[in-house]
Amino acid sequence: MDIANKVLLIILDGASDRPVNGKTPLQLANTPNLDKIASMGISGIMDTIAPGVRPGSDVAHLALLGYDPREMYTGRGPFEAAGAGIPVKKGGVAFRCNFATRRNNVIVDRRAGRIRETNELIKAIQEGVHLDVGFVFEKSAGHRAALVLRGDGLDPNVSDSDPKHDGEAVRSIRALKPEAERTARIINEFTKQVESILERHPLNVERVKAGKPPANTILMRGAGTVPDIKTFSEKYGLKGAVIAATALVIGIGRICGLNYIETKGATGGTDSNINSKVKNAIDALKKHDFVLLNIKGTDEASHDGDAEKKTGFISKIDEVLAPVVGLKDTLVVVTADHSTPVVVRDHSADPVPVMIAGPGVRADDVRAYDEISAATGGLNRIRGVDLMPILMDLINRTEKFGA
Ligand code: ZN
Ligand code: ZN
Repeated sequence: MDIANKVLLIILDGASDRPVNGKTPLQLANTPNLDKIASMGISGIMDTIAPGVRPGSDVAHLALLGYDPREMYTGRGPFEAAGAGIPVKKGGVAFRCNFATRRNNVIVDRRAGRIRETNELIKAIQEGVHLDVGFVFEKSAGHRAALVLRGDGLDPNVSDSDPKHDGEAVRSIRALKPEAERTARIINEFTKQVESILERHPLNVERVKAGKPPANTILMRGAGTVPDIKTFSEKYGLKGAVIAATALVIGIGRICGLNYIETKGATGGTDSNINSKVKNAIDALKKHDFVLLNIKGTDEASHDGDAEKKTGFISKIDEVLAPVVGLKDTLVVVTADHSTPVVVRDHSADPVPVMIAGPGVRADDVRAYDEISAATGGLNRIRGVDLMPILMDLINRTEKFGA
């Protein structure tokens, strides 16, 4: 049949770049499979939010799923919380948390020596803190955790307590709008109780004896409300799944109603088990209409400013993508959520290359997957929120506008 009925959306996180000595990592990498997909399909470039806007991974992924972040995004907290496995409900206010080390009132280690064994500390906080509202506090990866406050009259417009740098004082959380004053008060009370529990916790006493930094405070940031949105299946009538390693992307998938499929050995780094992730994605297409596969190591290499590592990892991704070339009845879409140029070591607003291959697609003359080749393709320049409508049309699932 000449119509696809499934979509595999592959997001190479931050893979898009600027030239380093004349060429981008996507141009330099050895990518026969990605280039084959480009030859079979239609390419273009995409501003995931808008020209000149530097996107975070969260808002970019939301836009690529067709949710306009400008309408529903208040902060990263709820997505991290959902990714950490907290059942988030509409209206709750969520925060990202770090266990940290404080001496007097100064942060000496924002990650408390990258402490991993936080289960006991988390349990003590769950049992020992008492607030005027309900709360859920859960472990996330490594030294991280997530907090959700539940109750009436909560407001996400509060500042962070995380100073973002060692050597600075813990900030008390302030209301950024008058209606958030109660929330600020509650969260400062939470911190105060947490600190008194952590200070005398046996695990921290042990750590100090062993010369390790105690996890004696919690820094909070990214306050946000769990958005009230249609699920992916309500919005599109498609059953979707997400395959990712980072809590943020998993949480975005969950909040949008995608099933999270876990992959053993997926780390979010360049050491990740990406072969299994790709296999899982292909497998997931048997039971789902739509699968989002995020591969994160490209972004990590960029933040490290390591062009060689990034280029090598892209070549490795290409190898494991061999089985998706020409996948039956499926639109194979490859893109990035934003550019992360290795020379910038952070996200930039440069548009990302995007390509769509599969039955019915009007293939163009583009023969390679990179930023420069894609710019000459038939998709021209689109925005992130345009992608889902284009894909829905290609699988014949859109309503006609007009008569
Ligand atoms: Zn990203
Ligand atoms: Zn990044």
